Amino acid sequence: MFIKTCLCVTMGSMDKTLELYYESAYLTEFEGRVLACDSRDDGHYEVILDKTAFFPEQGGQTSDVGLFTTSDGTEIHVSHVSIGDGVIRHICDGAVSAGDELHGRIDFAHRFSNMQQHTGEHIFSGIVSKRFGYDNVGFHLSDSEVTMDYNGPLSKRDIDDIELAVNRAIWENVAVTCSFPEASELSTIDYRSKKELSGDVRIVTVEGYDVCACCAPHVNRTGEIGLLKVVGLQNYKGGVRVSILCGQRALEYLGRAQDIVKTLSDTFTTSDDKVVSSVEKLSEENSSLKAELSELRDKLIDIEVNEIESKAGSVFVAKSGSFDAGAARKMVNLLAARNSGYSGVFSGDSGNYRYVIATGDDNRDLKALNEMLKERYGAKGGGNNKMVQGSLCAQDIGDVIDSCYSI
Ligand SMILES: [Zn+2]
Repeated sequence: MFIKTCLCVTMGSMDKTLELYYESAYLTEFEGRVLACDSRDDGHYEVILDKTAFFPEQGGQTSDVGLFTTSDGTEIHVSHVSIGDGVIRHICDGAVSAGDELHGRIDFAHRFSNMQQHTGEHIFSGIVSKRFGYDNVGFHLSDSEVTMDYNGPLSKRDIDDIELAVNRAIWENVAVTCSFPEASELSTIDYRSKKELSGDVRIVTVEGYDVCACCAPHVNRTGEIGLLKVVGLQNYKGGVRVSILCGQRALEYLGRAQDIVKTLSDTFTTSDDKVVSSVEKLSEENSSLKAELSELRDKLIDIEVNEIESKAGSVFVAKSGSFDAGAARKMVNLLAARNSGYSGVFSGDSGNYRYVIATGDDNRDLKALNEMLKERYGAKGGGNNKMVQGSLCAQDIGDVIDSCYSI
């Protein structure tokens, strides 16, 4: 077994970049020489160095970010890093020249968080592989989420058991080692891999838990992960998608969850363990109050309908915005049963009104009335020869109603 320390293989016009993150995942500062700097259409620059500690986006993991400092002290931000044919490109907000020596510094808080998430994922996937025989067929690690896709089902109970096993592995603080075995040795190792690999294969071993081919930086010992929390489980393409958080991200997530529970327990003046039953009780009370309110509203509509006087067989009523569409239709149906002309309800506030209008036994021309509302008040809506409905804007609803009576 040998540790990869130097790779400078000529690839056409550009040498492969020496990957310093393979020497140590904890290397945060380095010196590099600029080989090329190209401007981009978005105003940024693409900088290639002879070597770098910046880990590029690959294998489902987003890249490192950080800073370059030029020899005259100018600071240039590195917002993204990519790799193609072994050449690593840094996206920067400032220009440099070929031959310049740069001091690089990666954002280690960001890098370390990615290391915690990624090693946590390896332990989780190693346990899933051993216990269930499922493969991790999709991995995504960004600043906002960490997801793994497994090609078989896992229940909530399974997830709880795996989560506990991963955290036990964290508490055991076992070693995590990264190496590039010789081909002869590699053929004897049973390791997880998403695809058949050729060339130098980097093997990441979590002692007693997992052996996996992987190119990313990892923590030295599992205790550095701190904590792993599963925060999502959903069915996905015949298997499951699991969302996890490790280290500070897990702590912050649990802090936010605790704040929500605390706010609810204060609101309900109850203890944390009774919050769920309090919310369920409130929801049930709300449903029964809604049903009671609906019954009372219907009774009120019956009383109101009996008291409304018609003009030449027609009735038009204005209500506030809280009078919903169901109530408006009920009122119109009752009015139309009592009045032979038009029966309409306008409901709304601030100049915006919904309307429902029906015709009684006279079978008056609803189409003509609707056309009038469209022409004079910009109404939008339609219906049939028994009922029309829509919406319109009017400053004075009394004026609209007068127009309806006069048609
Ligand atoms: Zn990995």
